[in-house]
Amino acid sequence: MRVLREDGEDRQVRDDGGGGADVVIVGSGVVGAACAEALTRRGACVLVLDRGPLAAGTTACGEGDLLVSNKAPGPGLTLAQASLSRWPRLLAALREELGPGRAECEYEVKGGLAVATGEPEGAALCDFAAAQRAAGVDARELAPGEAAAYEPHLTPGVRAAVHYPQDAQLQPVLATTSLLAAVRARGGRIRTGVDVAGVETGRDGRAVGVRTSEGRIPCGAVVNACGPWAGEFAAAAGAPLPVLPRRGTVLVTAPLPHGTVRHKVYDAGYADTARSADPGLQVSAVVEATQAGTVLIGSSRQRCGFDGTLRAGVLRALARGAAQLFPVLGGVPVMRAYGGFRPYTPDHLPVVGEDPRRPGLWHATGHEGAGIGLAAATGELLAELWAGEPPHLDPEPFRVQRFAAARFGRENGWH
Ligand SMILES: Cc1cc2nc3c(=O)[nH]c(=O)nc-3n(C[C@H](O)[C@H](O)[C@H](O)COP(=O)(O)OP(=O)(O)OC[C@H]3O[C@@H](n4cnc5c(N)ncnc54)[C@H](O)[C@@H]3O)c2cc1C
Repeated sequence: MRVLREDGEDRQVRDDGGGGADVVIVGSGVVGAACAEALTRRGACVLVLDRGPLAAGTTACGEGDLLVSNKAPGPGLTLAQASLSRWPRLLAALREELGPGRAECEYEVKGGLAVATGEPEGAALCDFAAAQRAAGVDARELAPGEAAAYEPHLTPGVRAAVHYPQDAQLQPVLATTSLLAAVRARGGRIRTGVDVAGVETGRDGRAVGVRTSEGRIPCGAVVNACGPWAGEFAAAAGAPLPVLPRRGTVLVTAPLPHGTVRHKVYDAGYADTARSADPGLQVSAVVEATQAGTVLIGSSRQRCGFDGTLRAGVLRALARGAAQLFPVLGGVPVMRAYGGFRPYTPDHLPVVGEDPRRPGLWHATGHEGAGIGLAAATGELLAELWAGEPPHLDPEPFRVQRFAAARFGRENGWH
């Protein structure tokens, strides 16, 4: 394949049989899939590569919440609001395109409920909600005792509660495979079991292909959608990125009677633990049911590299927090526990856009605990920037250049 550069000069990249593409997307998680969907909608010839099975990375570990409730006003909330409104329109468009029975992803606007059992936490929760309301979030403070009408099994010790009717949920693997089904239907290619080791560059340093376990594949652009492995991939591509794994563990109960837990319910400390930079273990109580009746109990956060050990202390802390919020959960059977690695960045914002150190290399990663929620707007933003369209939201806060000023930038020779 002949790859045409922006300056008009072209360069032959040996094609070892992979077949070239306008854009190679590395990673078939929800973020890579959303980018592939948005790019193919614009006519791009796309190849998605993953070293594992489809959507089997962090995406397979997520509860699938699409939340605005835990976001403080700022660019992260703006992206979450854009994505929250985009997901149902995107799923409807996919259903229309793919036909009946497709793109059914258990999408549900179930609402979120943030609760505090202490007075100071309650005051902080209400202040946080007031700031969110000013930023356009529907955040409704409940009167004392009103929370029980929303969640009959909730502890009577609740002092303050805020209802977030906009919070939604979907099944992340179904959503991802639906996006990829549309990519395939439009002629895009998806290959699993292909490890991408690095990026091929032209004489000017521009990315013109990828080196894979199955040979070289030429392309016009490469998207790093490697989730928690994005830092490793970026380093191999010669453009380091401060994306690190942040471990999370979830307990899953046996199916419980319908209505035992109705919303996503979490304690007031949840937003703080999500925003914390502390590498140590952080636990806050997060409880919600799935459509199958199981109840998912989180949430833990810890920066311990890619150590996937399930630790009894973490499981105990999760179970204790959940039973404090919902005493009924103290006596129910737990079916299993699992964990995953959130793609963490130091400022808790994703990285979306082209890397000026390595033109032709794009990033769509670093969504930490919100990548499922943020994927719809992320894919759209990346495709808009790639196509030279006016972006639907300000891309500046998400540009990779923001790390240049920080210690990370200095350590990586970025001035
Ligand atoms: C316990 C837990 C609960 C969560 N709950 C939620 C939630 O409720 N809502 C929410 O929005 N978010 C949630 N998240 C976060 C969310 O799951 C992630 O932000 C999101 O899945 C990231 O998607 P991704 O596509 O960037 O990464 P991934 O899904 O990890 O996909 C990256 C892919 O890249 C592939 N890859 C990596 N390196 C290479 C390479 N060199 N060559 C080829 N392939 C490569 C991997 O195999 C992987 O499939 C949760 C996370 C955890 C751990």
